[in-house]
Amino acid sequence: MKIICIGRNYAAHAAELNNPVNENPVIFLKPETALITGKLPFFIPDFSKDVHHEIELVLRICKTGKRIEERFAHKYFDAITVGIDFTARDLQSELKKKSLPWEISKGFDGSAAIGNFVPVKEMTIDSLAFSLKVNGEIKQEGNSSMMIFSFSKIIEYASRFFTLKIGDLIYTGTPAGVGPVKKNDVLEGFLGNQCLLNLKVK
Ligand code: MG
Repeated sequence: MKIICIGRNYAAHAAELNNPVNENPVIFLKPETALITGKLPFFIPDFSKDVHHEIELVLRICKTGKRIEERFAHKYFDAITVGIDFTARDLQSELKKKSLPWEISKGFDGSAAIGNFVPVKEMTIDSLAFSLKVNGEIKQEGNSSMMIFSFSKIIEYASRFFTLKIGDLIYTGTPAGVGPVKKNDVLEGFLGNQCLLNLKVK
């Protein structure tokens, strides 16, 4: 499986990192080894002094497809959860400055935390509220209605380049409020009022 991630999909987050808003979604990948599920902790890697949390809505792909038309895109995911796109911001800034690829700052082991999935049938996907609490305090809040590129648009665009396969995940971008994590932080990801992700930083 692969993990497809979207960058700069919320105007306020693009602005907080001084990034322009692109005319197409910004896409990058994480390897399968980035995934952390269930009750596993997140370990701060030794190569970064500034790892940030990015809470995101995550789609689970349920059907193989390529060059998927926007109007059919909703048939290609069957469940949604919240995940955290952990980012070694110091490393990423250095790489961006040199116009080099970001992968090592974004795709390192443990950089893709994932919550428990909720079937799409049980939700209204165009206005999904989600949030991240760090040590009980709300740090990030978003809503799918604020995305620059909708789920369907993302699937249409990503599947031009990458065949989507069953079990692939799409991280759909983070809202404003990203910030560093530190040892012993407790991170909780919510979809509406439902806590789907609970993870300790070590
Ligand atoms: Mg992100």
